Amino acid sequence: SPNVPENNIDVLVIGAGPAGLMAALWFSELGINARVIDKRGSKIFNGQADGIHTRTLEIFDSFGMAKNILSQSSTFVEHCTWVPTEKGGIHRVKTMPAFAADDSRFQPQTIHQGRIESIFLDGIKARSNLKVERGVEPISIELDRGAIEDPDAYPITLTLRHLKRADVTSQVIRSHWKAPKREEQTGVNGHHDGPKINQLHEKFDEHERTEIVRAKYVLGCEGAHSWTRRQLGFQMEGDTTDSIWGVMDVNLITNWPDTRKFSSIQSEHGAMLIVPRENRLNRIYIQLADNETGKSASEKLNLTSADIFSTAQKIMSPYLFDYAYCDWWTVFRVGQRVADRYEQDQRIFLAGDAVHTHTPKAGQGMNVSMQDTFNLCWKIAGVLNSEYSRAILKTYEAERRAVALQLISIDAELTQALEGRPTQDELHQLYRARRQFLSGIVTYEPNILVARSRQSSLGRCPSCGGSSAVVAEPGVAKFITLGARFSSYEVVCQADARLWQTQDWLKSDGRWRVIVFGGDVASTGQLARANKLGMDLVRVLGKFEAHKMKSKFEIFFLHSSKREQVEITDFEGPFFPLDLNFGHDYERVFADTDNASSTSGNSHGFYGVDSTRGALLLTRPDQHVGWMGEYEELRNLERYLEGVFL
Ligand code: FAD
Repeated sequence: SPNVPENNIDVLVIGAGPAGLMAALWFSELGINARVIDKRGSKIFNGQADGIHTRTLEIFDSFGMAKNILSQSSTFVEHCTWVPTEKGGIHRVKTMPAFAADDSRFQPQTIHQGRIESIFLDGIKARSNLKVERGVEPISIELDRGAIEDPDAYPITLTLRHLKRADVTSQVIRSHWKAPKREEQTGVNGHHDGPKINQLHEKFDEHERTEIVRAKYVLGCEGAHSWTRRQLGFQMEGDTTDSIWGVMDVNLITNWPDTRKFSSIQSEHGAMLIVPRENRLNRIYIQLADNETGKSASEKLNLTSADIFSTAQKIMSPYLFDYAYCDWWTVFRVGQRVADRYEQDQRIFLAGDAVHTHTPKAGQGMNVSMQDTFNLCWKIAGVLNSEYSRAILKTYEAERRAVALQLISIDAELTQALEGRPTQDELHQLYRARRQFLSGIVTYEPNILVARSRQSSLGRCPSCGGSSAVVAEPGVAKFITLGARFSSYEVVCQADARLWQTQDWLKSDGRWRVIVFGGDVASTGQLARANKLGMDLVRVLGKFEAHKMKSKFEIFFLHSSKREQVEITDFEGPFFPLDLNFGHDYERVFADTDNASSTSGNSHGFYGVDSTRGALLLTRPDQHVGWMGEYEELRNLERYLEGVFL
């Protein structure tokens, strides 16, 4: 119709939950022309997911935003297990560390999803004018498959409906004080953004309207009931049964001692997880098993907070277990399933709960969803900016669907283990074996973006089919894994002695990093060898620089000699570059700290690099290691880049 407005956009993101907002953050950072729509009238205010992985914190840190979480979240350091006593109560049988310090420099946190969404919105606002358009949903989508390889085409046509005010919904807040609200409790739940909900409908029109949008790329991030997934006809595969969970966020009144620890409790009345949260809250999870309630699934979905809490009280007896305030509660239903496909023609992509659902047992949902779009969006941005070959977009499904399948299998394993009443040692062994994965630390298989190890027999990229994965030599850094994220270590800046984490080098700004392990540069020959490599690197990387204003690469040099044995001026070329407008760059060369400990003082030992030879390594814009090798293998690095860059 002539009255329906038509607009072109590079990327349309549907859904502004954690997955959609991570996409929006990347696109804001990388200057991509994107829109984000969400059919709900507001962000969520409290409840839903609440666990933040250590890997998720590393990602937020790479955007300079981890501090925004850490200033508001709760940390748990210990994990306790409680089991039934012979006399009918419960007792604590084991306390163990909730995380391993060598996995990440961060500790797992808890904070509600609404806060995470707020932190995202602040980060997006600081970077761009992109705003989430609320009360908007797609009603049709078409892909012109004849135009998918044309970089200038807008092959996806969507009709969007802007809902009228009366049709806009928001999150249903179900919170209440139980004990009389005392003076000193005012402000305890200061991050509950509740009052805004009343102003919600003010900015929506009285009348519905539609709009035609033509997009180059579309991301369906609409959660478990994804509209886009249904339009594409993709199937969720896996267990056909759903489990039903009662969840409450409460300020407890109790004489039970472990409220500030992550606790799994088994009793003759059922099992429960208790998680410490921000603002003195606790999250309680109870899986509502059939035999306990004798109720059908639909009856269970109608259970109230009083029903959930009375089950909790039975599980915790004989401890006093009551609450002052309930911030949020729900009964939700979830199955362990993964979509059969994640994308259509590398033009329409799905991410987050739209492609994987599982129980909340391991606190993964929000994290894995954000990590999906963290993986995807720098790739789309680079293709849109005519920097990368479209072939790299195939790696999204290959890399992230494999993670979802692993997640579902671990979720099933945990469920089975808990139902089978394992011994505490068995349970701890299981958590320990899966700990890295449950922290979000995953490894991607060889593909166009992950070189294959010289030792592996794979000739071609198993996921993308096409270009073969370039060879890398993992032996040069024995404790770094190709395809895994580059782990952090404390080092010191050669020029000014400030402490850095090596992950501080890997900011999320779309750039690739070449990390040169310099080895013992104070020994004869090694410094000259490294300086020569620097000159060769400038020549090779220069071939792939599309925009002269902002380089796509950054080079960091880390050596293993004592800092005082060399001078910053000993380093040449890209290691001590000179810009005639800005002077020298002093933040390229790093050394070990003087204090040797497990987290600093011996970087080459930590990464498994031979100090007499050094090593060369490439990280992708998402911090994952794409390639590594000897100084003399620069041609292989070049081949890797030739496969990725246009
Ligand atoms: P979501 O957070 O679901 O975001 C999807 C967004 O898309 C929403 O903002 C929605 O309004 C929007 N949207 C949906 N359809 C459309 C459409 N057609 N058009 C436009 N926009 C659309 N996880 C836990 O770990 N613990 C819990 O206790 C827990 N409780 C939960 C309770 C509920 C009621 C729900 C729904 C989820 C819960 N989860 C829980 C799961 C957790 O919230 C998700 O894993 C996580 O939010 C996934 O992020 P996402 O961005 O993929 O999807």
